[in-house]
Amino acid sequence: MISHHFHPRISLHFSLSLFLFLSLFLAATSALAADHLSNPLADPPQWKSLQKYQKTITHDEFERLLRTVYCSQGISDEFIRVDRDFACILMDRDAQTWFTLQFAKEGRRPQLGVRSWRTAQSLPRQKRQGALAGLRIALDPGHIGGEWAQMEERWFQVGDAPPVKEGEMTLQVARMLAPKLRALGAHVSFVRNKTEPVTPLRPDDLKEAARAVLRAGGTENPREDFDGPDDPLKDQTVRWQSEILFYRSSEIRHRARLVNARLRPDLVLCLHFNAEAWGDERNPTFIDKNHLHLLVNGTYLAPELAFDDERFEMVRRLLSRVSDEEIKIADKVAATMAHAMQLPPYQYTTGTVTPVGTSGYVYARNLVATRLYQCPVLYFEPYVMNNSEVFARIQAGDYEGTRSINGVERPSIYREYVDSVVKGLVEYYRGAR
Ligand SMILES: [Zn+2]
Repeated sequence: MISHHFHPRISLHFSLSLFLFLSLFLAATSALAADHLSNPLADPPQWKSLQKYQKTITHDEFERLLRTVYCSQGISDEFIRVDRDFACILMDRDAQTWFTLQFAKEGRRPQLGVRSWRTAQSLPRQKRQGALAGLRIALDPGHIGGEWAQMEERWFQVGDAPPVKEGEMTLQVARMLAPKLRALGAHVSFVRNKTEPVTPLRPDDLKEAARAVLRAGGTENPREDFDGPDDPLKDQTVRWQSEILFYRSSEIRHRARLVNARLRPDLVLCLHFNAEAWGDERNPTFIDKNHLHLLVNGTYLAPELAFDDERFEMVRRLLSRVSDEEIKIADKVAATMAHAMQLPPYQYTTGTVTPVGTSGYVYARNLVATRLYQCPVLYFEPYVMNNSEVFARIQAGDYEGTRSINGVERPSIYREYVDSVVKGLVEYYRGAR
């Protein structure tokens, strides 16, 4: 099912792949050596690109977003200093160079013109053409699936039952969502529409970068390979590091380039299914817990703010003013999903998130995708795949109407997911336009 929206991606790949192969070795050697970047594939910060945000945000608004969403766990004045009329953000710690952001005067209407995406209120009024008329939505099915599902550790199997592959389930959700959103007037594009990576790179292309990561972590002479998925020291091998650089770093960074340079949507939906640790992929642990939550970008932790790229990307995201819009959309969609799924909110036990909004289901967290996509992003984490009821529903696949699951009549898990997302988006955009 390759749509017109999908085609531009192909040419982008060819041009980017050459660029990437050339820049990769530079990145692997110089970026980590120049330090202060979070990843050998990270783009160095472009501080000049923030000039367009001069005098677009007031002191109070900057402080509010900093303290409640992005740096809710605090920010050292080694990195950001907020004064009455301006803020200083560290660019280079060795040279001690700082970016100065001048604030707009209090009480002036905020200027929100410098961005590629549109809020619900700034969309053209086209009520007769549907609640989502004109809205550009990019669907980002999480993970890759197919032959990559085991490598990306989003695969488990019970006996002879068909294996659970999150990357294929999320693609099915995206393919079912697209026609429903289009029928409501939205322009829908796919960030991924097959069980293949978006990045042209493969783990073999990333071995030098993997060695650089291991060296930076203090491992000088790493083992090449590991002994299967249960090897406790697999993360200290070249193969494991090159694979994670492939399916996580390179893949998500390529998706971000596609989103920001080509698709330029008003909203990205990152589609996932959640799970609790399942242990052995061929003898997975099942648990009683089942829950739902949505993530938006925020909660940069102290070590993350120390990286030049993440600090820059945090400030860029704050200044582009996506937060209020994405939290409002997330709150509305979380409520319709929670109602349809009858799931409690996930309770984090780590200190890596901040509850935001009013639904109880939305948290701010610093993930690569929510940080790099330059528009509102909703990151969905419904259902625990290794809960036995959810597993039974996954095995049942998609179907019309309802079927008895553990004695209760339920719609297909895919339709429940899709229909509740659509309902939430319609409620939000109908109300806000
Ligand atoms: Zn996932």
